[in-house]
Parts: sequence; C-alpha cells; structure tokens
Amino acid sequence: MAKIHNLGFPRIGKNRELKKALEAFWKGEESSEALEAVGRTIRNENVMQQENLDYVPVNDFSNYDQMLDMSILLGNIPARYRNLGGSPLDLYFRMARGRSACDTGAGICHAQEMTKWFDTNYHYLVPEFSSGTIFTPNTQKLCKEISEARDKGVNVKPVLIGPITYLKSGKEKDESNRLCLLEKILPAYQTILKELDELCIEWVQIDEPILVTELDAPWRQAFGYAYQELSKSKVKILLASYFGELRENRDLLLSLPINGLHIDAVRGESEIEYIAEKIAPEQVLSLGIVNGRNIWKCDLTKILDRIEPISKKLGDRLWIAPSCSLIHVPVSLERETNLDPEIRSWLAFATEKVEEIRIIGKALNSGRESVAVELGVNAAAICSRKESPRVHNPEVKKAVATLSADLEKRQASYPQRAQIQRARFQLPLFPTTTIGSFPQTSDIRTARARFRKGGLNEAEYRELMKKEIAYAVNVQEKLGLDILVHGEAERNDMVEYFGEQLDGFTFTSYGWVQSYGSRCVKPPVIYGDISRPKPMTIDWTTYAQSLTIKPIKGMLTGPVTILNWSFVRDDQPRSTTCRQIALAIRKEVLDLEKAGVGIIQIDEAALREGLPPRKSDWKEYLDWAVGSFRISANGVTNQTQIHTHMCYSEFNDIIESIAAMDTDVITIETSRSQMELLDVFDDFKYPSEIGPGVYDIHSPNIPSTESIVSLMKLAAEKIPSDRLWVNPDCGLKTRQWDEVIPALQNMVKAAAVLRKQ
Ligand code: GLN
Ligand code: ZN
Repeated sequence: MAKIHNLGFPRIGKNRELKKALEAFWKGEESSEALEAVGRTIRNENVMQQENLDYVPVNDFSNYDQMLDMSILLGNIPARYRNLGGSPLDLYFRMARGRSACDTGAGICHAQEMTKWFDTNYHYLVPEFSSGTIFTPNTQKLCKEISEARDKGVNVKPVLIGPITYLKSGKEKDESNRLCLLEKILPAYQTILKELDELCIEWVQIDEPILVTELDAPWRQAFGYAYQELSKSKVKILLASYFGELRENRDLLLSLPINGLHIDAVRGESEIEYIAEKIAPEQVLSLGIVNGRNIWKCDLTKILDRIEPISKKLGDRLWIAPSCSLIHVPVSLERETNLDPEIRSWLAFATEKVEEIRIIGKALNSGRESVAVELGVNAAAICSRKESPRVHNPEVKKAVATLSADLEKRQASYPQRAQIQRARFQLPLFPTTTIGSFPQTSDIRTARARFRKGGLNEAEYRELMKKEIAYAVNVQEKLGLDILVHGEAERNDMVEYFGEQLDGFTFTSYGWVQSYGSRCVKPPVIYGDISRPKPMTIDWTTYAQSLTIKPIKGMLTGPVTILNWSFVRDDQPRSTTCRQIALAIRKEVLDLEKAGVGIIQIDEAALREGLPPRKSDWKEYLDWAVGSFRISANGVTNQTQIHTHMCYSEFNDIIESIAAMDTDVITIETSRSQMELLDVFDDFKYPSEIGPGVYDIHSPNIPSTESIVSLMKLAAEKIPSDRLWVNPDCGLKTRQWDEVIPALQNMVKAAAVLRKQ
C-alpha cells in the first residue's frame, strides 16, 4: 500500500488571517494571545484539510519564517538579541524585523538579513554564525504543534530544515567557517530527535534542498558525516530534497544511512526510475509528483501510468507527495468564483493538490476504478486545457517559432548611439531622473478602489489619474529634473498593470502567496499565448509629454520580470512564454517611439531571481532571459534611448549578461552599499551609462545634498563621469510627497554641485 503525505501547507490562512493578526499585534492593537489564537485556528484548519493523509506535516506553521523558527529551535540566537527582556515572542519579532510590539522608537536592534529561498519568491531570514555560536535547543513550539495536531487524531510527521541546508544558507559574521559548526550543531539536532522519540514520533522529515545545488567536497563529506550521526536516533528520517534534479548528488543521497528519501519528481522527473532502481531494500521512496510550485492541475492518468510500475515494485515503500512544500501556492480555489469557469477547472491550489495526492494514493492502492469519477473529471480538465482556443493563438506561436536573430539587435553599437542621443537630448553631465513611480497616495488608491467597485466610471477615473500625472509632471519641472516620468499613478502593480491588458493572463481574487513575514503577493496567472490587443501606456505617456517640453521617459515592465512574478503555464518552456511577452512589449516600445517618446525604460526588477538553483544552469536561463529583453527593447532607432532598472545590487556573477542587454542606461540600487557594488562595473569595464541609486527609498530618511555629492564622487572614481546618471534607488510609490520633494531637491542640487566641480 503506497502512503500519502505532504511536505508543508500554506500558513497565512485562506483569508490572510495571519497577516492581519501579525500586523495588529505589531501595532499594539492585539495581544499575543489573540495572535496565538489565530495561529492555532489556521493550524487546526490545515490539519483538517489534510486529514486523509497518512502523515500530516507539523512545524510547517510559522509566525514569520521557517528558517527563523529553525534558529529558535536550535537556539542559535545572535548576541545582540539576548538579554533585551520581553517574552519569547518579542525575541522572535526582534530577530525577524528589528522590533517587537513593545519596542518604541526606531526599534531595538537590527533584524536578521533576509534573502530569497532558492528560486522562489519566498524570503527567509538568514541564520547568523560566528566562532562563538552555541546551540541550545528549544523544542517548545515543535512539541506544542505536535500535540495540537495529534488532538485532531492525525498521524503527524514533524518537519525540520536539515543541518547542511541550515548551515549552507546562513552567513558567518566573523572570520569563522560555518562548516566548522557542524560538530556543534549535530548534538542540537540529536537532542531534538531524542525528544521526538520520547513523543513516540515515527517519522521526521528533514529538508535538505541544498542537494539540488553544486556542493564542493567538504560539504558533500559533511552530508555523510551528519547523517551518520543523526541516523543513531530511533526516529526514522525522511530526507527531503526539492526544487530540482539531484544529478551529481544523486548517489550521495542514495549513500546516506537514512530511512527514506523524498525527491522532486516534477523538476527531477528524469531521475525517478534511477532512484527507484538504486534505493536500498529497506528504504522508503517519496515521489514529489504533484507540482508544489505551480497552480495547474496535474495529469493524473499520466502520473499513474508512470508510477504504477514503481508502486508494484516498492509496495508500501512508495510514498506520494507534492514536489515541495505547498507554501508557494495559494490556499484554496474554493472562493475563486470570479474566475472563468473553464480556466478555473484547470487549476489546483494547495487544498486541491492535497486532494490530487489522495486520488493518486487511492488509485495505486485500490485500483483506478475506485476513483474512476475523479479521474474522469481530471482527464476532461486536462483535455479542455490542451485544446482550448483560449490557450492557443496560432499567430503568436508562429511569431515566436520564426523569430529572427535580427530582432535582438540594435542598429548601431552603444558608442555610436550615444553620440546621436547626445545630440538629440543635449543633456548636461550627471543628468537627473527618477525610476518611474511617484507616491501612491490614499487619494489614488481610493479612486482605484471606487473605479473597481463601479463608484467611478472610466472617464471619471481617467480624469483623476490625469490630474495626478499633471501634478507629478509639475513637481518634477519645478524641481528641475532633466528627464521626467509620468509617475505611474494609474498602475496598481508593475506586473498586474500589464498583465491585465495582455491576452493570455488571468487574475485570482484570493490567490495570495507568502513572500515574507506578513507580506503576500498575488501573482497573475499566465494560461495562454500572450498578445497585446492594443497599446497599454501610450495615452498616459503622451498626455504627460503634452504638459512639458522636457523629455518624458516611457515606462514599461520587462518580459522577464512579468514572467518571474507570475504563475506560468507548464505546457510549454518558460523561454517560449517569455519570448511571447517580449514580442508584446516590443510592440509597445515601438508604439511609444512612434508617438515621439525618445527615452523608454524597461524595468527588469526580477531578472536575477529567475536564476536556477544550480550555477551550471545559469547560462541557459540568462541566454533566453537576456534575449527576451533584447527582443522587447532593441527594435528602436539609434536616436531612442533605452533604459533598464534593476532593484538589487548583486551583479558580480551576471555582469556579462547585464552588459549583453545592450541598454543605453541602467539604473540600479546602490545607496546602502556606499557604491561598493560598482566595483564590478568598473572591473568589467561596463560599456554604457549607469545611474547608481543615491536615495534609499526604503527609508523615510531624506538624503542631504552633501551625502549625494559624496556618493556620486565615489561612483565617479569607478565609472567615467560622462556615463553617470543621478537618480534614486527605485520607484517612489511607497513614500510620501513631503519626503520625496526635499529628497529630489537635494538630488538636483547635488547634480549642480557635481557639474561645477
Ligand atoms: N518603474 C517602477 C517604479 O518606479 C520600478 C519598480 C521596481 O523596480 N520594483 O515603481
Ligand atoms: Zn527597483
């Protein structure tokens, strides 16, 4: 009998209850008891959703982040958080965000750093290590959640992050080497396993997704040593790998003395048979066969065809699960009544994926006839999606299939273009500009909400947005900026705004996914071939241009960012979908050019986060990602200036690809790093113009003229000054006008000072 289980369930609640409870607690509006009660309700609901499973995950709940929970569980508390008083929850939120509800003023200490969890849009809190790090396990939360779930009568399987992934995902804060901490961390894990054994836990799931990345010899050895030690425990270990193929780590995983292993059988589909063949006779194999990273129904018949032979061979040693934790998908389709019914029939969120697991298990154990109805419904949905005319647009397919390399090329090289553009725009040295958005005031948000609900008609809404645009243009003129923007008042979100106007996209009402802490995102769904029925930004941009003689910079979101911030169809390669978006954006770029817009910015805020977990796969991704950007941007004439913007700072390992985008100007986030990260642009001899951010838009602080001048001087040590622009780090939509105006005033003054010198 095959067993069924899950690796983790979304914890924000189907109504984002946790978000609301957290934010109320932080504001001091609710007590810690109220927050705890909301968490308990969500956990109970999650258990009930999964009660059909043979093993229900516990400790997958978190008030903020599972990596932070792991630091608390292991007792890895950096010194600055100790002895601050308060409750364990205060400690927890100080580590998460620098302050708890009881802390006033600017906060009590800085938070742990946050970074992306593999190639997901989820951010974890980076564990900190030093030579003095000690581990003093604290199993209170773990034990509480075990007993809570058991009260509901289910069989629980606690989930931990494994020691190798935990160490590898952290950071040393001194000269120490975190791998040396293995000796110290393993006893902590052993203590935890011992407590689980005392609670009569049969299986523990230990996550080691680091196995889908390249590991050098010391880390590989660490795996062997660690699991030798941990296997001494009586609790059975299911070691879970996910987010990719195991490749050269396959035999390493197979060599470990563990009781079971879980593999990502979606991304690592090609490895299923090899692992099933090589697995030791007493080991369990868990196949993560339902995609935990996407929202599409899986093809149950196809899956059964594939795994029935394995089930026959392995019997009850075969387990079935989603490929990874379901925190990367929304909770439930139940309330998505606004979706088109046909498209809705193609989707599966977390709750529906758990049901898919149940059906697969039942089919394996009691025969396909036992779930004939369910399989029939599934087959009909798969067939409808395959054949639906909504999905397929032959014209778009043909355009992508017959792309010519010329589409990616600009007419002349950057030095020639620069000359032509200099003559056209007559810009001073150190030209000033902004990244696109101006404050999204409550007036703007109220107007949009009223428009959505029908309280304003389209003409009224457009009038209000035009007023906002006129205001932003006027402010910029008065400030004396060189290149103006229209301010993006009409945009709710930089991806959603375009998705809503492109064919091939749809939007859920409640499809929220945790990004970090209480922050959730609602990614658009790309279900079909993408095309642009009509221009998307021309009216707003030309309206802004009609108000000023200074150049208005057109503002678009790039194809790679639109792709990476959406749920993407799985019936064709991501590269194909990206090229479709690129062709649609290209049309917009050319229409802007035709309308007289001489400077166009194409934001690629999310280009970096699409990098695959394994470095050896980066080149392939970067090739099509950069190619797609070039398709979108490079159809313009030499006189049109193309900008791009990226709001991060690590370019070291991708600088060649950034240069290959062949833009005229790139603006990046640099203000916090004191321009250090320009080193790579210097070392590489980056060919074109750069606007290093000089205004940290994540902070309410207003940068002084002097600080901007000194930052730009640092920049000028690395980049020739005739290729430098002066601009903020990112868009200003989250700031207030009374911060933005003085900050930009100082920025313009700083440019004047620099020009004189
Ligand atoms: N143009 C966008 C803005 O200014 C860019 C946002 C981003 O990079 N995240 O808001
Ligand atoms: Zn940005």
